[in-house]
Amino acid sequence: AKRARLDRFISQHSHFDKRQVRALLARGEVLVDGVIARDIQQQVDAFSHICVAGEVLQDRQPHYLMLHKPVGVVSATIDEQHRTVFDLLDEKVRSIEGLHIVGRLDLNSSGLILLSNDGRWSQQLTAPGSKVEKHYRVGLANPLEQGYIDAFAAGMYFEFEQITTQPARLDIIDAHTAEVWLTEGRYHQIKRMFGRFRNPVLSLHRCAIGDITLDQQLQPGQYRALTTSELQSHN
Ligand code: URA
Repeated sequence: AKRARLDRFISQHSHFDKRQVRALLARGEVLVDGVIARDIQQQVDAFSHICVAGEVLQDRQPHYLMLHKPVGVVSATIDEQHRTVFDLLDEKVRSIEGLHIVGRLDLNSSGLILLSNDGRWSQQLTAPGSKVEKHYRVGLANPLEQGYIDAFAAGMYFEFEQITTQPARLDIIDAHTAEVWLTEGRYHQIKRMFGRFRNPVLSLHRCAIGDITLDQQLQPGQYRALTTSELQSHN
């Protein structure tokens, strides 16, 4: 997150000007993460909890994160049975107002999850008409066949939703591994598509959403802020 000097940050995020901020600091009326701040030079960022004269600074900065979802974690905010993506976040990050998950993954799937408090941005990425490609690596119980490629490209009719899936690209990597690119996200879509071939999905990993690729440095459960260039690719 972008860091700034305390006095500057407060004057930018409140109605107090720098002179007033200095006076408040001198009187011990500024708390950073619960500790009285005295130094205007102290570095803070959007994740810092700042309280000025009894008021918590409203954090209006947009936040964009990528997270490596481990298998066995639910992409939800709360769940009675399982750990959730939100449980993986630090307290400060978890308490960002309006933070939500952008596009879910099944409990037993792993890989790229995006999080943001910017609803407009996440809608752009997930809207049915947005055509943003999601890239998956899929491990299968039975050997793949060439016929899968055409079937995925042609689309499949889903009785329950009464829709035909959008053309999807499938590459065969080896006998039991495929890569798939979807432009939509129907309920258990990949598992259901391979289900047509009675081929159980053993592992499902999301590698990328549009131009945002899961950082190989992130271990399962880890996350980081998106870089400017990652953000620019979807703005
Ligand atoms: N398709 C699935 O079946 N599961 C996922 O988690 C994502 C796509």
